[in-house]
Amino acid sequence: MILPIADRFVAGESPATALDHARRWNAKDVKVILNLLGEHYDDAEDVAADTEEYRTLLSDIASAGLDACISVKPSQIGLDLGTEVFEENLASIVEAADEEGEFVWVDMEDHTTTDATLDAFERFVTDRGGGMGVCLQANLRRTKGDVERFADLPGKIRLVKGAYDEPESVAYTEKERVNTAYRELLTTMFETYEGGIAIGSHDPAMVDLGRDLHEQWGTPFEVQMLMGVREDAQVELAREYEVWQYTPYGSRWASYFYRRVMERKGNALFAARAIIGR
Ligand code: FAD
Repeated sequence: MILPIADRFVAGESPATALDHARRWNAKDVKVILNLLGEHYDDAEDVAADTEEYRTLLSDIASAGLDACISVKPSQIGLDLGTEVFEENLASIVEAADEEGEFVWVDMEDHTTTDATLDAFERFVTDRGGGMGVCLQANLRRTKGDVERFADLPGKIRLVKGAYDEPESVAYTEKERVNTAYRELLTTMFETYEGGIAIGSHDPAMVDLGRDLHEQWGTPFEVQMLMGVREDAQVELAREYEVWQYTPYGSRWASYFYRRVMERKGNALFAARAIIGR
């Protein structure tokens, strides 16, 4: 059973609780990106089970008429077992999404997976003519080239700062340098993309920059934030812009919850207060 305090960041263990969560947030005009928690599987059965759950979830999203989509991690659907396994399972998920007219995001993991993830995304989104998005990380030195590479492709790009500890050789490791890279990349996207820009950040400075760039260039954009983080801001922003809440669910919630709690003092205090009942 899920720890009661973890439900700030995780929408329960089952698809049913995740779909209920999506229904509640849709009522606040916030759309929902569902992510079944799981990563780095080296067991083909885990890979097959999560692939199948995503296929069913897409059909459940469609029959419930929800403003929701899914986001999958490459290592959850087989990348650690080989590029072919990953692409085969992504194809199966994309096929289910096509049948239901739903959208599929691909999360980005550490830098050793970037090429395989982007190559697969490029191929699938081109074949499909859109309906898919991928995440790019501003901390990676290569991302300027990737932002340029995807300018004329259909689909969406979620720009994030980057969640993985990467070596200096491939990434900016100072926070301020990452912020500068994020600003530069977002500016290029608004200047050169026709749309499909997702600001994946809780940082008010980046959201404000997006608003300014939208006013200047008119390029459509959306904001994406995590469940449990700046939720008041999500509701407020949704009055003006398209807002998507990234919502994890599933039985593997413990390590995700631990990461959220440890990344920020405020979250750790929240957890401590909840545990001691204040
Ligand atoms: P930070 O740089 O952490 O903080 C900047 C400012 O934002 C803070 O000073 C504060 O004002 C505000 N803020 C941040 N967090 C909080 C909080 N908890 N409460 C209140 N205010 C806060 N990373 C990947 O590597 N791959 C992915 O596929 C990926 N997908 C993501 C999808 C979404 C929708 C989001 C939101 C993030 C994703 N990330 C992903 C994580 C991302 O890379 C960052 O690690 C994470 O978002 C923290 O950076 P930030 O821009 O939100 O703000």
